[in-house]
Amino acid sequence: MISDPVGAASAGHATTISDADSPTPGAAPAAGASATGTVFNIQRFSTSDGPGVRTTVFLKGCSNNCLWCHNPESLHRPPELRTYLDRCVGCGRCVEVCPAGAQQLSAEKGRHYDRDRCRACGACANECFTGALELCGRDMTVDEVMVEIAKDEPYYRHSGGGVTFSGGEPVLQTEFLTQLLRACRNKGLHTAVDTAGHYPWPKLEGLLDLVDLVLFDVKVLDPEVHLRVIGNDGTRIRDNLHRLGQTGQPFAVRTPVIGSVNATEAEIGGIARLIGQYPSLVYYELLPYHALGQDKLDSLGMTREGDEAFTTPDRQQMESLAAAARPYVPDLRPDYTTQSAADAT
Ligand code: SF4
Ligand code: SF4
Repeated sequence: MISDPVGAASAGHATTISDADSPTPGAAPAAGASATGTVFNIQRFSTSDGPGVRTTVFLKGCSNNCLWCHNPESLHRPPELRTYLDRCVGCGRCVEVCPAGAQQLSAEKGRHYDRDRCRACGACANECFTGALELCGRDMTVDEVMVEIAKDEPYYRHSGGGVTFSGGEPVLQTEFLTQLLRACRNKGLHTAVDTAGHYPWPKLEGLLDLVDLVLFDVKVLDPEVHLRVIGNDGTRIRDNLHRLGQTGQPFAVRTPVIGSVNATEAEIGGIARLIGQYPSLVYYELLPYHALGQDKLDSLGMTREGDEAFTTPDRQQMESLAAAARPYVPDLRPDYTTQSAADAT
């Protein structure tokens, strides 16, 4: 697991799952009310999170804890300060503005950041001109996010694209996501929700009327492996996948393919067989794993438990895995029989 001294104190294993933020299906927001959520990135011109050119909005907080996670900054809901102190030139501006005494500069200790004291207010990051400090995650209203989304509307319309909500686990910020989806629907924008499925079913069920495409992650079926590398045995995820499949809602399944976790024909073929039984499955996508840089964990003061090595499957392995899955699903992506698929690995 990824551990984080600050997050461990405030949030435990990962973002807590709760029913408190569940939407009332079909309920309209109070007039003028705009929910607030925590966003850690808004990526424009994305072409890998659904059809066409898209804007992907990443919501902070996740209920899984994948050992290989590419976005450790997404794990905990509250904003966090990232530090790259090798870029610090010792100007002392952050020390002057920090209200918590977390930024320190002294002859004795040199430049020091005390994460335990930090309130993640972002004042120091605003002052730092070298990029040594960066606040990850900020609270935004629905209206503020919609302003960002509106910037690329012409591209969505020309490319058949739209907006994807990802994370972390976007479904955990249920009311915020509900209002965002409704605002997109009111503007006639195509929407996708990229979810890992670990939460009570009503959270997703209440959103489905507002979503055009669900992108559902299925990483591994074996409960023991799931528990070892994701932190839960996957029962709830498989149950939610089954319920989703029974609704008739168009959905795609995505699997990050990782050596030592799931890069076997038995595992990938098993996932394909399972999801292929649902008529509303649109496609199955295999995504070769790419290693996370240690510097990303260091910048958040996190460490990774265990010494399991995760490897990236090569082109030949991906072709074999794709061949094991193809018979069971309506569309396998990428094709893995063309050069462009080779480029993807
Ligand atoms: S403001 Fe930036 S460069 Fe200046 S002391 Fe702080 S971290 Fe270093
Ligand atoms: S984020 Fe705020 S509390 Fe934390 S170190 Fe910076 S100024 Fe201090």
